[in-house]
Amino acid sequence: MNLILLGAPGGGKGTQAKLLVEKYNIPQISTGDLLRAAVAAGSALGKQAKAAMDAGQLVSDELVLGLIKERLAQDDARGGFILDGFPRNTAQAEELDKLLTEIDAPLSRVVLVDVDFDVLVKRVVGRRTCKACGDIYNIYFKPPAKADVCDKCQGELAHRADDNEETIKSRLGVYEEQTAPLIDYYQDKGLLKTIDGLGEIDDIFARMVAAVS
Ligand SMILES: [Zn+2]
Repeated sequence: MNLILLGAPGGGKGTQAKLLVEKYNIPQISTGDLLRAAVAAGSALGKQAKAAMDAGQLVSDELVLGLIKERLAQDDARGGFILDGFPRNTAQAEELDKLLTEIDAPLSRVVLVDVDFDVLVKRVVGRRTCKACGDIYNIYFKPPAKADVCDKCQGELAHRADDNEETIKSRLGVYEEQTAPLIDYYQDKGLLKTIDGLGEIDDIFARMVAAVS
């Protein structure tokens, strides 16, 4: 089961990936983690990556694909994998296809976890955190019984400055710009399934399992 999950930030894709890892016993492979690990280990690719980052350059697609190839050769990836953070554009998607064909591990499914942008904005903008116990509320979806007061400990609820509408809308804009072409790309290949990302985690996961089965 070789998977890619697509979905907006804050849309629950990470939670679903973790559940897939548990159910199917396949690794989630994050290119960010791969890069950090390679740099820390000082491998040949890691040294190249470090040189690029130290010079303030982007790490090349070729190098990232090299890391993915190394990672997919490990035993735990034999039964499948979930790729996280790659590809981010269609050029990368094409290169990834070539690699996966070469190692005979073509994608079995690309799943888009779809959540309305309006909901994603409210999830962020409405978030309130208890200053005392850290409990999390949302003024739209999980309001405290009394405004700005924690139900559990009566502590004061605070709104983080970076949980603002401008920041989340800008992140969603970047996501849409990057992901829309990928959605088309995988749709054309017949690999894309879209699932509704709203509701209880278990219900969403049932949709996920149906989509990848
Ligand atoms: Zn509290």
